[in-house]
Amino acid sequence: MKITEVKPFAVWVGRRNQMLVKIETDEGIYGWGESGFSGRELGVKGIIEHYREFLIGKDPMSRGALWQEMYRSQYFEGGRTLTAAISAIDIALYDIVGKKLGVPVYELLGGKHRNKVPVFATTAGPYGQDMIDQAKEFMEMGINAFRLSYDNMDIQSGGLFEPRVSIANSAEWFIEARKQLGNQAIIGVDYHHRLNVAETASFCQMMPSHTLDFIEEPIRDETPEAYEVLRTLTDVPFAIGEEFASKWQFLPYIERGITNYARVDICNVGGFTESMKVAGWAEAHYIDLMPHNPLGPICTAASVHLGAAVPNFAWLEVAMARASNNYGEGPNFEVYPEQVLLEGNGYSLPEKPGLGVEVNEDKLSEPFKFWEAPHPHKEDGSHTNW
Ligand SMILES: [Mg+2]
Repeated sequence: MKITEVKPFAVWVGRRNQMLVKIETDEGIYGWGESGFSGRELGVKGIIEHYREFLIGKDPMSRGALWQEMYRSQYFEGGRTLTAAISAIDIALYDIVGKKLGVPVYELLGGKHRNKVPVFATTAGPYGQDMIDQAKEFMEMGINAFRLSYDNMDIQSGGLFEPRVSIANSAEWFIEARKQLGNQAIIGVDYHHRLNVAETASFCQMMPSHTLDFIEEPIRDETPEAYEVLRTLTDVPFAIGEEFASKWQFLPYIERGITNYARVDICNVGGFTESMKVAGWAEAHYIDLMPHNPLGPICTAASVHLGAAVPNFAWLEVAMARASNNYGEGPNFEVYPEQVLLEGNGYSLPEKPGLGVEVNEDKLSEPFKFWEAPHPHKEDGSHTNW
């Protein structure tokens, strides 16, 4: 089998751009992949166009070796843009290999460990009693793990975000949430690296022990030593890793015991090839995967196959708005006529060969639109993280 075409699609789907890749072969089998480098998709598209030059004619069965060739074929190896492109291609190659051998992708990864991949959800809307009520709805569906809303002020409109105001308001409602939801609830928060070390410490210290089961990425991840300092200031478990673009970025966080959940993103870290290496490494340190899954149905399906095939797994992130008609627009069947769907509190395992996702290529017609993440600021005018 030989690769005959590598087609990148940076297109607007629904409410955002998606960076997809279709790889075709001389046997008529094709595969789809997705990249997670949201907001800078054209950079990834350019890398895929470079890789196309040497991928055509190669055997997709040699996906592990192709990963190495893509990673090592430039002097300036690694980095988020390159591995986001490699991720999409690697996922598409696994889709092809699964179809060629007539098995779902998890069968290529060692087989299934579970019959269903459990999820965690995130409350939509503002913090306060509304989020607690939504968490109660999740618990009625059997989803006991969730991230609650917090006071994000005017951040989504690129306006004001003042960390000290946010943490004081949010902490009060998290204490109330634990009271109302009880200890069966697994309560987390994703502060989206909008705090610094001292602010995170204060936030955690405002709440009694076991108000939170995890805090996700309160600070930026460039400096693992900063997280090590934070570790001495709070006992709340950390969930870190959605921005990591290789096993090497996970290295200090796993080996030095910094993260307690691995937020691996299969569309950024390097596809199945790299995710399975991170999973094995995490397993040796008794760390469960809690994959990041903010994109489209290809990302979800790939994450489900990964989640099925590893022993150390907590929950897969689910975007309720696109997974369930009750919480938003629901699944997009026009572009993705076949996809892996949420059933209750998890994803059943797909049985079709490959990923189990079909893409209607003719519907990938809305052109790329330049979109910027919000650029929020503090009260004094200085820039802060979205
Ligand atoms: Mg996050």
